[in-house]
Amino acid sequence: MHLYVHVPFCTRRCSYCDFAIAVRREVPSRDFVQAVLGEWARWQPDPALEGVPGLRTLYFGGGTPSLLDPGELARLVDGVRALRALDHDAEITLEANPENVTAAAVAAWRAAGINRVSLGVQSFHPGVLGWMHRTHDVPAVQRAVDVLRTGGIADLSLDLIFAVPDFLGRDWASDLDQALGLAPEHLSLYGLTVEPATPLGRWTARAEVVPADDDRYAAEFLLAHERLGSAGFEHYEVSNYGRPGHRARHNSAYWRRAPFIGLGPSAHSGLGRRRRWNLPAWAAYHRAAMAGSSVVEQEELLDDAQVRLEDLYLGLRTVEGVRTDLLGSAAAWRDAGWAASRGDRTVLTPEGWLRLDALVRSVP
Ligand code: SF4
Repeated sequence: MHLYVHVPFCTRRCSYCDFAIAVRREVPSRDFVQAVLGEWARWQPDPALEGVPGLRTLYFGGGTPSLLDPGELARLVDGVRALRALDHDAEITLEANPENVTAAAVAAWRAAGINRVSLGVQSFHPGVLGWMHRTHDVPAVQRAVDVLRTGGIADLSLDLIFAVPDFLGRDWASDLDQALGLAPEHLSLYGLTVEPATPLGRWTARAEVVPADDDRYAAEFLLAHERLGSAGFEHYEVSNYGRPGHRARHNSAYWRRAPFIGLGPSAHSGLGRRRRWNLPAWAAYHRAAMAGSSVVEQEELLDDAQVRLEDLYLGLRTVEGVRTDLLGSAAAWRDAGWAASRGDRTVLTPEGWLRLDALVRSVP
């Protein structure tokens, strides 16, 4: 069993972001922790937790979890642990923004049990950070990494965004080199997507911004594959790279369809065929939690076709791939250079990953 906690607070909305967040100058850490611990208590009698001795991973995502008061974060980890043990070697990840990383905060995070930090860097280009409405500047990234390392965080992941519009003049190769210069154990690289209900969506609709075209998206994706591969990183999932022994264990559980519970506004849970997700808005979630009523927005049971589609889609995202007999035949994919055979499995190549959605849709 794996546990995810969605911390919805941010101090400002990034120009491309359509996540379920609550923009707050002052973060209501105490109220949040109380609501989430209440939700965790209500999960305990659920059959999905029956016989589960301990949690393999715990992941604080957001939003900006590093905005939580460190003392309240520690109370949250303790409260989770009080009801269900964490494995002795559990991976406990905190997503952090560089400007929140201080020596005092890192000491408190370590004391709370955090052993992995995923740092939202996005770019080393000042113009790109400003355009994205990020709240940190470039020097803050190096400072944050130094403070995290000094504070004892041995497992560090950096997030970067590629395929930003041409007019920003971003040098992707240089950003990759600067990221490598910080010696992370793991990197997550996401292509910029235009969501309609965001500032970027509006700029694009008004033709003020022209998104990067497919050719540049592909060129940057493939450049990252080559450069990070040469630097000793394994490209183990379409968006993720790890040094040997440093794959993200929590996210890997999603791709294996292992059972997970999500707490907090908008969080999803996946338990075999069961899918459940929470009220997305912080105010509604908090109101329901305080009233002792359900914070669940909806629940559904996947049918056989949905399970099969999920197996295909998630499996093909990773270097584990899927059993070839589930695909019918993958000969055409192999001939095109989009897939390779590994024993009885088919694994997509980076060229195949660029066509992931279309390939999954083409499976009979
Ligand atoms: S910090 Fe992350 S969650 Fe918050 S607005 Fe920016 S992209 Fe969205």
